[in-house]
Amino acid sequence: MNVADSRRAASALERFGYEHTPRADDADVIVLNTCMVRQSAEDRAYGRLNGLRPLATNNPNLVVAVMGCMIGVKGNEALKERFPFIKIVSAPSDIRPLVEYLAAQTDHQEENARTDERFAWMDGELALPSYEQNQLVSGFITVMDGCSHACAYCIIPSKRGGEKSRPPEHILSEARLMVEQGVKEIIFLGQIVDRYGRDNPDYPSLAGLLRQVHEIEGLERIRFLTSHPNQMSNDLLDAVAELPKLMPHIEVPNQAGDDEVLANMRRGYTVEEYRQLIQRIRQRIPGVSIATDIIVGFPGETEEQFQHTYDLLAELRLDVAHLARYSPRTGTLSERKMPDDVPDEEKWRRFRLLEELQEGISTEINARYIDQTVDVLFEEKKKGRWRGRTPTYKLVFVESDEDLRGSLLPVKITWAGPWSMRGELV
Ligand code: SAH
Repeated sequence: MNVADSRRAASALERFGYEHTPRADDADVIVLNTCMVRQSAEDRAYGRLNGLRPLATNNPNLVVAVMGCMIGVKGNEALKERFPFIKIVSAPSDIRPLVEYLAAQTDHQEENARTDERFAWMDGELALPSYEQNQLVSGFITVMDGCSHACAYCIIPSKRGGEKSRPPEHILSEARLMVEQGVKEIIFLGQIVDRYGRDNPDYPSLAGLLRQVHEIEGLERIRFLTSHPNQMSNDLLDAVAELPKLMPHIEVPNQAGDDEVLANMRRGYTVEEYRQLIQRIRQRIPGVSIATDIIVGFPGETEEQFQHTYDLLAELRLDVAHLARYSPRTGTLSERKMPDDVPDEEKWRRFRLLEELQEGISTEINARYIDQTVDVLFEEKKKGRWRGRTPTYKLVFVESDEDLRGSLLPVKITWAGPWSMRGELV
């Protein structure tokens, strides 16, 4: 979601005549987009801000903007005190303060009255910044911001605010623009993306939105994430099964394989319900790949409870598991009420055990691809090899001297490991 937000900020900057530079030292404006989902992300943001201090001190004209969860919907006065060189702050997904600041600095000021109309272009007319046009193959579009589900560990609702769907016409026009500018795959984003439209009676459901986007000519593939186990409707699963551009790939976090831990996390489902959901997804979408998220070391998680998570992952044999060690986030229910009592070494041990288990499962699943021919959408060339994705979102590397960027081509898989595969153009 931050990648999508940063892209919008970059695109807005270009409207004011700025050009992208890869080096912070050369920049007149630096936008730092921040994440706080775990301590490591927060530490990185502080590291970047500290790194900018000398640049900002030497150049008082440098415009440093900080957006994202470090600011949140409620603002962050303490941050501005600690880093006085910050000139603009903005909430996640909100590029308006940046745009207004830049507008005030340029001729645009006189052009229009200060009305909402004036910045209407931010909503549906912003697509790719020029340096990504005809370069980017797979692009993110945020379809809804915020989240109204209060998982005990999660900081997102308090930083991004409540769930709010974007109007479908903005999403569609952004999608059309992206496709005109060379994008072949669109990945729709929401914290609980399957809830798209439920906050507004005039909006379609996610399945309805996807059906509309499916009509866009030149668009080859569509994906969406992240789903919540309680929100996956059959209608949505059937749309995935039925519509050829919708890829058989579902990201639906489990978080824990123990009912008590799930209840403490306030996830709102049981292990058995998650198990049945996986069955339902597999029944309705043939050949589907399923990714999950797991948190190890949630407060109070015993060895036995962890073993339940291990056993569930071993049983379900999902394609991918994104693993995280629990990290207390300021202001969340678990941070306030549940002591972070699983020692760090123990979190690491549980993490590595799951990592090893999943490595074996992914290796076994991916090995089934060997000698099969699959359609790969090629995105970019790195270190002499083209990199692309299968419909199931598996990473494939192919050697070729041709320009494959944006091509969708059949590839015969020759080698498969847990995280990627290699193949040859057919
Ligand atoms: N709204 C999405 C994404 C949330 S953030 C969802 O619910 O799936 C992505 C992942 O980060 C979560 O799924 C969770 O596994 C992890 N995460 C969130 N808060 C965390 C915390 N405090 N500590 C460790 N991992 C966390």
